[in-house]
Amino acid sequence: MWRRLWAVPTMLKVCHFMWKVVKNWVANKANLFKRMCDPSPLCPICISAPESIEHTLFHCPWTRAVWFGCRKSFWTTDLDTSLAAIWMEDLLCGHRAKETTLENMTAIFQVCWAIWKARNAYVFTGNPLNPGDTIECAAGIEGPKVGNAMASSAISIEAWALRIACGTAMDLNLCEAVFESDCLELINCFKESNSPTPWEIQAVRRY
Ligand SMILES: [Zn+2]
Repeated sequence: MWRRLWAVPTMLKVCHFMWKVVKNWVANKANLFKRMCDPSPLCPICISAPESIEHTLFHCPWTRAVWFGCRKSFWTTDLDTSLAAIWMEDLLCGHRAKETTLENMTAIFQVCWAIWKARNAYVFTGNPLNPGDTIECAAGIEGPKVGNAMASSAISIEAWALRIACGTAMDLNLCEAVFESDCLELINCFKESNSPTPWEIQAVRRY
């Protein structure tokens, strides 16, 4: 597995970070707490669960928006992410290896790295978290985005399509745009601002 991990074509610091992820050597709150270097293991972002590496990269609500927004949510919502080391092994040399192209691995690595970078900026300098910015950061080293969409629900696909439409409107410098959708669930999420927002919508709303 290690040979494959280091062969993923991206920046060395990104591969190095993923190596630490698999080894569980990342200095997150849960690890610091275990070593008695931090008074609390809780995630500093959602404060609802210990900040394990799996929580940081896959399960914290804001990271789900990142994965969805960059069209890689399939690799984290449909696969077993309860242990980062097992997840990585599945992708690199396990039952998912055949369908995981090098291009996908590069993107996945860079999204993880961008999430960690944004988390650190939030924790250490108070920078607000923005899934859109994090996606752009990951894409900046990812290169052109290509590939097919894979999503885990109907609203995922609808929200993803809306996100592309928003991006196109922004590229065209449109000040106003009207989007139509036959997905009532999606429309209600935007109309009812007080209702809990599914994570799929967060990536669109913050666009
Ligand atoms: Zn969290």
